[in-house]
Amino acid sequence: MSKEAATAVFAWKHTHRDKEPKLAGYVRHGVKNHTGAMTTSPTEGQNVHIRHGQDKIGVKYQSHKAMRRLLNRIQRNLSLRQQRAHAELARNTLFSNAWTRDYLIRKGQALLDRNHAKRLHIKSARLAGDEFIMWNFDIGDWLDLPHPLYQVIPNFLRICKIKLVTENSGANYSKCTCGEREGVGVPCAGFFKMCDDAGVANNEMVHPCMVDVRYLKLYHTHYGAKTN
Ligand SMILES: [Zn+2]
Repeated sequence: MSKEAATAVFAWKHTHRDKEPKLAGYVRHGVKNHTGAMTTSPTEGQNVHIRHGQDKIGVKYQSHKAMRRLLNRIQRNLSLRQQRAHAELARNTLFSNAWTRDYLIRKGQALLDRNHAKRLHIKSARLAGDEFIMWNFDIGDWLDLPHPLYQVIPNFLRICKIKLVTENSGANYSKCTCGEREGVGVPCAGFFKMCDDAGVANNEMVHPCMVDVRYLKLYHTHYGAKTN
């Protein structure tokens, strides 16, 4: 290797080392709350509003006028959204028996109830004092899978591990490798299975603070408001 080439490689290496903190910003962490991102329909809805409807924006509009119409519509939609949230706050949720139904929006409670029911299909074992494994190898037979490739995932990769952690403050947390709490925002079926095994009563398994804030009724009634 020539001297110039070696110098260039060293310079490249140093540049990379200097920029490492910036590069680390691009490391992909799990996508949080991705259930709302499964469809493009919210974006399509925005497009329809821009082209048609009360505040439609024509091709000949100057930007200040277009912007004003856009902001008008955003304001109107936000207040409409808040009205709906207040209506839901006052409404009783009757499709669930869980006590959290008074605090969660319909979608959040439905996701919780689904995982609570799914616990019945899960097998579990305790590895150590604070570690559990959960699995459901029948999943390919009874569930409509999002993709047939899921069926060829080896069984040992379909095992989730739950670890109980007690913080210095005395608060208890559980962390599951399935990532459902992070991705969907509600405790996973494995968590419910663990509670079931421990003899926890159905109505004591979940507290509203264990559910992502976007599923709380209060979050939607205060969305966009300048409060704490
Ligand atoms: Zn899990």
